[in-house]
Amino acid sequence: MNQKKTPMLSKSRFLAGTQCHLRLWHQCYNRELATAATPAQQAIFDAGQEVGRLATGLFPGGVLIEEDHFHHEEAVQSTLAAIHNPDVPAIFEAAFIHDDVRVRVDILERLQNGGWNLIEVKSATSVKDVYHSDVGVQYAVLKGSDLNVVRAGILHLNSRYVYDGNQHQLDSLFTFSDLTELVLALQEDLPARVAELKKMLAAARAPHILPSRHCHSPYGCEFWEHCTADMPEFWIMHLTGIREERLNELAAMGIEDIRDIPPDFDLTELQNRIRSCVVGREEYVSPELEEELTGIEYPLHFLDFETVSPPIPLYPNTRPYQAIPFLWSDHILSEENDLAHFSYLFKEDTDPREDFAETLLEALGDRGTVFTYSNYERRMMTELAEYLPQRSGQLLAILDRFKDLQASIKRHFYNASFHGSFSLKSVLPALVSSMSYDDLLIQEGTYASLQYLQMLNPETPLEEKKKIEEALLAYCSHDTLAMVKIREALLRRL
Ligand code: SF4
Repeated sequence: MNQKKTPMLSKSRFLAGTQCHLRLWHQCYNRELATAATPAQQAIFDAGQEVGRLATGLFPGGVLIEEDHFHHEEAVQSTLAAIHNPDVPAIFEAAFIHDDVRVRVDILERLQNGGWNLIEVKSATSVKDVYHSDVGVQYAVLKGSDLNVVRAGILHLNSRYVYDGNQHQLDSLFTFSDLTELVLALQEDLPARVAELKKMLAAARAPHILPSRHCHSPYGCEFWEHCTADMPEFWIMHLTGIREERLNELAAMGIEDIRDIPPDFDLTELQNRIRSCVVGREEYVSPELEEELTGIEYPLHFLDFETVSPPIPLYPNTRPYQAIPFLWSDHILSEENDLAHFSYLFKEDTDPREDFAETLLEALGDRGTVFTYSNYERRMMTELAEYLPQRSGQLLAILDRFKDLQASIKRHFYNASFHGSFSLKSVLPALVSSMSYDDLLIQEGTYASLQYLQMLNPETPLEEKKKIEEALLAYCSHDTLAMVKIREALLRRL
């Protein structure tokens, strides 16, 4: 028998258990198995906290319950005191406990009629399905605590809000989505769901759950590395785009390795190609790859952008999460095989887009195929053209020269070492073993954009700003050089 005292549930534990029983089990008993949050994940979490703090500005006079989650009982007492004080119009981080479930409510707003609004703040711009359970479990605990909750919903960022460059208008920046009806509809099932999780936690052994699609939805699980450590090198999850039902069918047959999949098992064309490459230990090279790589005009440009997408807009005439390009890198290959490199990093704390576009237009000139890796740069160029009507014609004309190297590879080439992923970080080591991201201080785009904001921060010491600047330029230039080398590696296979 498990002698452990069954741990308390909280809102986040309830949601973790709803996603996967094993995730909740590990959160309660084996936290040390979790992979630590990356700096980028931590910074995204911090940005969410900042959005939460900003939202409290909509409720002047609101009182913060200061006790942290290690002092939940005390926080409940402070919450009760605030509830009984009619001068308190709103309570931030209100604490409750009912049926061994603890919750902290982002904002509890007092209404004239003695009722309360339960408000969960999210930094997203829309209401996701998982938020229903999120608010639903809070509602159940508050109702169980005899609080008269009249309305429950999500206060989230308004995707249509356009910053005017002055102080943010909080009542336009945020919008409330009323989920009361949906939340009420969940109430009947919630006690059974909570009871099921408690029963699972009281069991002697961890539930047997294999990693699958559910590990990434609605949230990426922190135990992914642990749970997948013993999976075969050619795991069935590496079949690009494989659906949950197909995975379940394979699991029912006891199949985890791509090499064990029966030849008549129904797969898509790409999945069959992956399977053939793994089974036959050979690369796939389609006859059309040559035209994709050589149907080009010199000089060849290999282009990459870095962008920043702040939840709270930084620049006038921008919206929450609008992507703003601040850095480009362009490796230029001449017909004589001479390689040159140009890049541009905008270093002021104003809107980078105009300087970005001007310098980019000069670098790209009026001829030559422009290789990108994904169609992200195409999207950014289109948005730049909308923002800069005086440059719109030139910017849009360059789109005719764009060629997406990733799309070409996805259609016409496969190497088993891709493990089903066509990202630069998967394709590069398989084709160009001499190049790696390991030595770079910045190794992925989200972290690059966060470091850019850190560089712009007036409180960042000059020395650190310089270091970030060099790291950003090195990262972006690495991506474009990687494209040059990948194309060379592919040409050798023709
Ligand atoms: S990685 Fe997947 S299976 Fe493992 S605990 Fe997380 S959600 Fe569950």
